[in-house]
Amino acid sequence: MVTKGDMVYAWTPDSGLLEKAECGGAVTALLKSALENKVVDAVLAIRKGVDLYDAVPTIITDPKEIGGSAGSLHCGTTLVSKLIVKYLGGASNQKLGVTVKGCDLMGILELAKRNQLKLDNLLLIGVNCGGTVPPVPARKMITAKFGVDPADVVKEEIDKGQFIIMTKDGQHKGISIDELEEEGYGRRSNCRRCLYKVPRQADLACGNWGVIGDKAGKATFVEVCSEKGAKLVDAAVKAGALATSSADPKGIAIRGKVENAMFKLGEKWRKHDFSAISENLWDVIRDETSRCIKCYSCIDNCPVCSPIKIELTSGTTMVPVGYLPPSPMFHMRRFAHISDSCINCGQCEELCPMEIPLALFSHAVRVEADATYHPKLGSAPYKN
Ligand code: FAD
Ligand code: SF4
Ligand code: SF4
Ligand code: SF4
Repeated sequence: MVTKGDMVYAWTPDSGLLEKAECGGAVTALLKSALENKVVDAVLAIRKGVDLYDAVPTIITDPKEIGGSAGSLHCGTTLVSKLIVKYLGGASNQKLGVTVKGCDLMGILELAKRNQLKLDNLLLIGVNCGGTVPPVPARKMITAKFGVDPADVVKEEIDKGQFIIMTKDGQHKGISIDELEEEGYGRRSNCRRCLYKVPRQADLACGNWGVIGDKAGKATFVEVCSEKGAKLVDAAVKAGALATSSADPKGIAIRGKVENAMFKLGEKWRKHDFSAISENLWDVIRDETSRCIKCYSCIDNCPVCSPIKIELTSGTTMVPVGYLPPSPMFHMRRFAHISDSCINCGQCEELCPMEIPLALFSHAVRVEADATYHPKLGSAPYKN
């Protein structure tokens, strides 16, 4: 029996699933068990599309199909939270199992605060997250820095501070993330600044950090974060769908150290990114947003600022409509709206057709607001 706060190594006894999974396959085994036992009606996960640069959100209702979603896609930058609202009725009429990174989880919590989804109907399986690399820059990086055709890569992973690729012909190549990022490659800029590494507000937080000894690479490190999560693990173990052992105390210490090192790295990037704009933030925002074509993608894809679209398009506010580039008030009004709630998920920036560094601006303002106001966004231990 496990209880909230426990940390265990977990793995699937199903050798076929273990092969497809990222490490121990615990996440997929638990989601399968939740579907089989009708704890959830459907699972929302990410599966590989045509290749590993193509991360596709997918809904699974048949437990036999869940194996197709096993494995981690580090080029998967999709935010699942908004999808639950847009396409799944905010989970108001069905119970959903969802795999979540820190930003997915924060988006879900913010949307729940805005009554846009039903948190009680969600079973949240968190995955630790060191960051994601967008698909096109990932291909460019693999070509330029690894000297490999991106189409020849069969697996990629981020481990021990390196971005590692494995090729069709069995080669392993790793380059330090620091080196890649110093040269403008690597993780998205919002991921570099992200401090939400272990998603402890999910029901379970799963990862590979801290799995040592003979279990290294063969088990998932699971931190039990809620009684709902504990029940799920117990039911899967009882049904023979999951095996567990206590986490090695040395492994727990290592996991803590890695998490702390990631916080330091995130703080370093915050300092770097924010100090570059702090002297003349208004000038930078004005110049960068002058490219805006008012496509509303930044608003449509933001988990916290959808309602503002109605205001910005109504013609009844101080933001004049019908102009390109839009009045600076278009952006000011949006930034004001999200200044205390931007979760730094990066969707606005990534999906802006004019490549305006929007997340940088809203994250900088939000972090500044957090330094003054209480409670902080989401309150402890929610940290980003
Ligand atoms: P599996 O059984 O293989 O299941 C993996 C689950 O992850 C599936 O449900 C799949 O749909 C989902 N998934 C795959 N790609 C994504 C994505 N892009 N976004 C959301 N869900 C996705 N662990 C660490 O300890 N340290 C890290 O630095 C770290 N970085 C990660 C970065 C990313 C982008 C991802 C997705 C995961 C990361 N993890 C990290 C978690 C780790 O890779 C494994 O997902 C975790 O250990 C569970 O392993 P498993 O074998 O039980 O998972
Ligand atoms: Fe992971 Fe954070 Fe980037 Fe989200 S914002 S993908 S949680 S590093
Ligand atoms: Fe303007 Fe970019 Fe937002 Fe589109 S996504 S409205 S171009 S800032
Ligand atoms: Fe995410 Fe951008 Fe919205 Fe912030 S403003 S929550 S980074 S989409």
